Amino acid sequence: MGVLSGKTAVVTGGTSGIGLAIVELFRHEGAVVLFVGRNTKHGAAIERRLNGSRPTDNASAARFYPCDVSDVRQIDTTIGAMQADHPVVDILVNNAGANLKAGTVRDVDVGDFNTTIATNLTSYVLFARGFVPAMEQRKNGAVVNIASTMGLRGAPGHLSYTVTKGANITLTQSMALDAAAHNVRVNCIAPGLIDTPATHDWIVGVDAAEVKGIPLGRAGTAWEIAQAALFLCSDRSHYITGVVLPVDGGMTVGE
Ligand code: NAP
Repeated sequence: MGVLSGKTAVVTGGTSGIGLAIVELFRHEGAVVLFVGRNTKHGAAIERRLNGSRPTDNASAARFYPCDVSDVRQIDTTIGAMQADHPVVDILVNNAGANLKAGTVRDVDVGDFNTTIATNLTSYVLFARGFVPAMEQRKNGAVVNIASTMGLRGAPGHLSYTVTKGANITLTQSMALDAAAHNVRVNCIAPGLIDTPATHDWIVGVDAAEVKGIPLGRAGTAWEIAQAALFLCSDRSHYITGVVLPVDGGMTVGE
């Protein structure tokens, strides 16, 4: 029996990197996992791999829902489909996100800025709006928002991204206070530099000294973030809410 046996989890951005590791680990720990992304080819392949030879249906252990989370209408449709297929959702991991365009306040493009907000922040709020009320009614639920150490303070040249990641943290704190009376816990993970398809080229291209400047001497893995998400979503953390957990190899205390 896994620690998530009997639970149903929704994971946004489950087709790659950190989100994919969370989908795989939660599935391994017994959860039914409903995951979201735009890449239908990857999503379908992951679904097939996790369900084995069984046909994919509402009873499947892993179910992919194609959705562009920067589009409010697609989010509403996706949440509706998930709720029709799985009336009880116990866990929500808001993870879909991207550092779409580097830039400063001097060259910020309003369109890119708004798309970054929609993807990295509004989608977190809307998925929470879709699933938290029922968790509150059942007096049981756990939400994890994936922020970033770049949300703990400013970072030069990444205006839009840092704005959203900082807001992921205050969103978590406000949601945690609102939901605590209903026994729904809301926590946040602030990953440091994690080796995923989004960062891999940069990590292998960067001066090795920069990565070695991380106290633990290396970039983290998506699996290491998934382990933190598992802890925060499982009953093992049932007295923890409203925290921001850096998983960063000591980067933030070393600065
Ligand atoms: P990744 O490998 O590029 O994965 C990003 C995931 O988000 C993919 O599944 C992608 O799915 C999904 N996604 C992005 N935009 C989307 C959209 N508009 N609609 C639907 N899904 C969308 O990146 P990652 O490094 O794992 O990042 C995951 C999260 O961790 C992000 O929130 C990121 O800010 C955070 N984070 C990462 C690091 C790091 O060093 N890697 C550090 C701190 C925080 P599709 O491609 O299928 O659309």
